[in-house]
Amino acid sequence: MDRLYKPSRLTEILNKYGFRFTKSLGQNFLIDGNIVRKIVDAAEISEEDNVLEIGPGVGTLTEELALRAKKVVAVEIDEKLKKVHAETLPYENVEVVYGDILEIDLKEFSKEHFNEEAFKVVANLPYYVTTPIVEKLILSNVNLISITVMVQKEVAKRLSAGPNSKDYSSLSVFINYYSDSFYNFNVPKTVFMPKPNVDSAVITLKMKENDDFDTDFLFKVTRAAFTTRRKTILNSLSNSNLDFTKDEYRKALMLSNIDPMRRAESLNLDEFKVLSINLKSVV
Ligand code: SAM
Repeated sequence: MDRLYKPSRLTEILNKYGFRFTKSLGQNFLIDGNIVRKIVDAAEISEEDNVLEIGPGVGTLTEELALRAKKVVAVEIDEKLKKVHAETLPYENVEVVYGDILEIDLKEFSKEHFNEEAFKVVANLPYYVTTPIVEKLILSNVNLISITVMVQKEVAKRLSAGPNSKDYSSLSVFINYYSDSFYNFNVPKTVFMPKPNVDSAVITLKMKENDDFDTDFLFKVTRAAFTTRRKTILNSLSNSNLDFTKDEYRKALMLSNIDPMRRAESLNLDEFKVLSINLKSVV
């Protein structure tokens, strides 16, 4: 039997079940075995791994994961794919759960499906909800090892950017607080059916041990610092909706050894952390 990434097999299945793509669900299915293998390689999946896949589609990536992982649980919003999966995913170590990943309680989910064991996320994400999904995974407080996802290229750059690059933003600082990010490789439009309008890339976020930090305030300060990224950090903070005086910002910046004339995009995570601690102390 041909693998699911073969365009002829995929077309045959789609026709057999009368499947119509729903554009609003970000349904662009992979049709390239090389990319499928490279995604699973990037996630470093072995037979010891539990995997959560988000959006299996017909099961192209799921099939490769099934052959390499211990267990795969895939969450798919589109119930029209149920009868397709009965044919395409006949693996004992694969389970498909039908629902919206954004509505699922991941703590309960990991208890029920992974017995609270650690797991990795691997997915070709629906692009309309990439950031909410990544944020939810990161903040879910479950035993998550890493997230390897295909996303829109521009988003991949933002999620994995470091200081002094034009893609560095408060989102990058947030990601960097919780994980070490790796930009794995680019993926051309041509390896999808139907072909999307944008290029893609695969990134991996390896989760860090969390320390006990006031993250709410840290990310408020980070967002405030980036409100006007062309201005100096002192002016940007002063123009933000955070409730400090310009003098207080200046004092906190000096205490943190950060030149007030620098721009937010030049500050690394540790500098933002020190700045947020010092801002609390100057009032
Ligand atoms: N993994 C397949 C592949 O690579 O060929 C399909 C990837 S496709 C880009 C995204 C998949 O996510 C679709 O199957 C879509 O129905 C599903 N999806 C969209 N929104 C979802 C959500 N909120 N929760 C779970 N699945 C979702």
